Amino acid sequence: MQKTQSSDAKDFKTSPISVPSAPLRCVFSFYMATVELRELKKSYGNIAAVNGVDLLTRDGEFLVLLGPSGCGKTTLLRMIAGFETPNAGEVLIGGEVVNELPPRARKIAMVFQSYALYPHMTVFKNIAFPLKAQRVNKAAIPQKVEWAAGLFGIGHLLGRKPRELSGGERQRVALARALVREPSVFLLDEPLSNLDAQLRASARDELQQFQRRIGTTTIYVTHDQVEAMGLGDRIVVMRGGTVRQIGTPKEIYHEPADSFVARFVGSPPMNLVQRDGYLLGFRPEHFLPKGVQNDGAQMLGVPFLVARIEYLGADRLLYGTLGGSFEGQKVIARLPSTVTVNIEPQTSYDFFVEQKELKFFDSTTELRISSRPL
Ligand code: ATP
Repeated sequence: MQKTQSSDAKDFKTSPISVPSAPLRCVFSFYMATVELRELKKSYGNIAAVNGVDLLTRDGEFLVLLGPSGCGKTTLLRMIAGFETPNAGEVLIGGEVVNELPPRARKIAMVFQSYALYPHMTVFKNIAFPLKAQRVNKAAIPQKVEWAAGLFGIGHLLGRKPRELSGGERQRVALARALVREPSVFLLDEPLSNLDAQLRASARDELQQFQRRIGTTTIYVTHDQVEAMGLGDRIVVMRGGTVRQIGTPKEIYHEPADSFVARFVGSPPMNLVQRDGYLLGFRPEHFLPKGVQNDGAQMLGVPFLVARIEYLGADRLLYGTLGGSFEGQKVIARLPSTVTVNIEPQTSYDFFVEQKELKFFDSTTELRISSRPL
């Protein structure tokens, strides 16, 4: 079956990633391994790119490293892969210290943001390349290539050169090439960032399904919090070379360990307002007008002067400032379309947050603290 023309989006719909059929599954064994980092450090001159990271993945876990640009995600991944040498600390794969092992010997596969396919080689040869480098028995190569290509729905493209492929198809060739060696750990550095938004969403979905079925421990780097929330079994939030929090998407969102995590995850971010010596946090969707709260809940009521309203279809975002003892502090409210209360700009309303939705943070250390009297 040869396709002549295809759009990325169509391709992802019509050729979903599939899992190996039973007979093939017998031929290819998947190794699972945990990755552990102990007090890992890496500096470039006086820049501490990674500054003492401890981490332990679970077997078969999809772990996402999330953080702003420059927080050390890529450096961390490259140390796991063996492309960077740590200044201190240990990397363990499958329980063994691998600091001294070259990348080839670590049984990991890494796909970069700027994956490079060999332009003069066909898709088949690109995918076969790591097998040849590993001196895999020649007779076994076609079957392995077809299997890896089949997983990503690109079996019909094996005869093409990279320039004859769409961006999405190239991305999938890179993923198949990484997977063909049956790694015990999959390291992915923003592998979907070259795709357009729609394709990215479907590629994300398929990547997750695929990882679940194959069960290879995966560490995935992104600065996109939506991607992290959607993909990760757990998320590692990083800042300035350190880990700020490790938790499930739910924990990270609802129980942020500090005010940085609280603001980095969630869109719009958590509202943080100043009190004496601490910050009071509440999510925009918990800041609601009178009459839509749960009956009997303990409330914090504050006047809210709405400055601007954004209609997003499913939600209304209200930008404005608080009154009363929070005079002048900027906040955002997010009203689902089911809340039909009429709200006009330049008008003040009584808004409420359930007290159980309030988070407290130390303004100096940024760390979460226990509830304070309001
Ligand atoms: P991004 O999301 O932008 O890719 P990142 O979180 O992956 O960022 P890293 O690429 O790990 O961040 O970089 C961490 C810090 O180390 C940055 O300040 C960066 O400038 C610095 N850095 C990374 N690689 C080198 C290098 N080879 N030489 C000098 N400094 C480097």
